[in-house]
Amino acid sequence: MASLKPKVAIIGAGIAGLSCAYHLAENDIPLTVFEKSKGVGGRTSTRRVEPSLSFDHGAQYFTVRNPILQSFVNTWENLGVVSEWKGRIVKLNNKEITGTEIIPRYVGTPGMTAMAADLAKNLEIMRGTKIIEVKHSSNQWILLDEAGIAYNGFDHLIAALPAPQTAELLANHPISKIASSTPMAPCWAVLVGFENKLEVPWDGAFIHESALSWVARNSSKPGRDATKDCWVLHASAEWSAHHLEDTPELVISQLLEAYACAIGQNLPAQFYKTAHRWRYSIGGSFINPTDLHDESIGLTICGDWVNGGRFEGAFLSGITAAESILKKVITLKD
Ligand SMILES: Cc1cc2nc3c(=O)[nH]c(=O)nc-3n(C[C@H](O)[C@H](O)[C@H](O)COP(=O)(O)OP(=O)(O)OC[C@H]3O[C@@H](n4cnc5c(N)ncnc54)[C@H](O)[C@@H]3O)c2cc1C
Repeated sequence: MASLKPKVAIIGAGIAGLSCAYHLAENDIPLTVFEKSKGVGGRTSTRRVEPSLSFDHGAQYFTVRNPILQSFVNTWENLGVVSEWKGRIVKLNNKEITGTEIIPRYVGTPGMTAMAADLAKNLEIMRGTKIIEVKHSSNQWILLDEAGIAYNGFDHLIAALPAPQTAELLANHPISKIASSTPMAPCWAVLVGFENKLEVPWDGAFIHESALSWVARNSSKPGRDATKDCWVLHASAEWSAHHLEDTPELVISQLLEAYACAIGQNLPAQFYKTAHRWRYSIGGSFINPTDLHDESIGLTICGDWVNGGRFEGAFLSGITAAESILKKVITLKD
C-alpha cells in the first residue's frame, strides 16, 4: 500500500503550504516542506522586538466564512492559538468616522504566526532552504536550493508561493502563465510604539484619501502587552508602489505624517519605529482548481492569490491542493 502513496514536496510554509501539508500528513502522505525563512507563516508574521514588544506587520486579522476553516478556528480557540479581536474598527475619511465595521475578526495569540506554528508542529520542514530551481525528469521532481543541494525523489510538487515567485520558479511550465498574469500589490508597513497613548476612539481604521489604507493598535489585540501603545500603519497599494524604493527612514516619516494628517492631531513621541516593505502583499482572483493541477507530471499550485487573496483563501487553497492528491491515492486504492 505504501507504494501507492506519492512522496510530496511543498515549497512555501505560509498558510497555504502548511494547511496543505497538514491535510496530507493527516492522511499519512509522506512529505517535505521547503521554506526559505527560518520561521513559518509567510505573510501572517509577527515581528518580535523583545518579549513584551511585538507587531503583526503582515496580515492583521482574518475572517471566516467557510465551515472547514471555522472548525479549525473552534479548535484553535480552545487551544488558545486564536482569539476574536473585539477592537473597534472604523472607516475614516477626512478626519471623520464614516462607518463602523462589526464582524468577527480573529487573530493569532500571542501573534499572527500562532496558526502557522500550530499547523507546522508535527511536519517535516526544511527551514532556511530557498528553492531556486525545480526539474521534472523520469517521473520525479528534483529541487535545487541556493547552496546547490539537490533534493530528489518526489512524485508530486506543490508550489505554495506568491504569484510572482510561482511564475519565476515554474517559468518553463505552461501553468506558470496563470501566475505571471496575476499582479500582487506591494505594501509598506510602519511599526511604531508611542510613549504616551494615542487618544483616538478606534483600535483599527480603514483610511480613505490618504497615503495610508489601514492603521491598527496592535496592543489592543488579545494576548499582546496592552501597557505599550503599539501601532501598525499600512500604506495604500498605490502609495507603496510609488514609493517602493524609498528608504525606510523616509517611509516612516511620511507615513507618520500621513497618520497625523488623517486624524488632525499631533502624534505622541515614539520609543520605537521601523518599516517593513512587502514586495507582494495581497492580490489575486478565483482560479478554477483544475487549472492549477497538472496530473501528467504531478504539479499543483496553491496560495492566497488563486483563491481571492487573504488568509482564508490561502488556507482553503492548500486544502484543495491536498485533496487533488488524495483523490488520486483513493482512486489507485480502488
Ligand atoms: C501587509 C499585509 C496585510 C495583510 N492583511 C491581511 C488581513 O488583514 N487579513 C487577511 O486575511 N489577509 C491579509 N493579508 C494576506 C495574508 O497574509 C495572505 O493572504 C496569506 O498569509 C498568504 O499565505 P500564502 O501561504 O498563500 O503565502 P505566503 O504567506 O506568502 O507564504 C509563502 C511562503 O513561501 C516562502 N517562499 C517564497 N519563495 C520561496 C522559495 N523559493 N523557496 C522556499 N520558500 C519560499 C515564503 O518565505 C513564505 O513563507 C495581508 C498580507 C500583507 C502582506
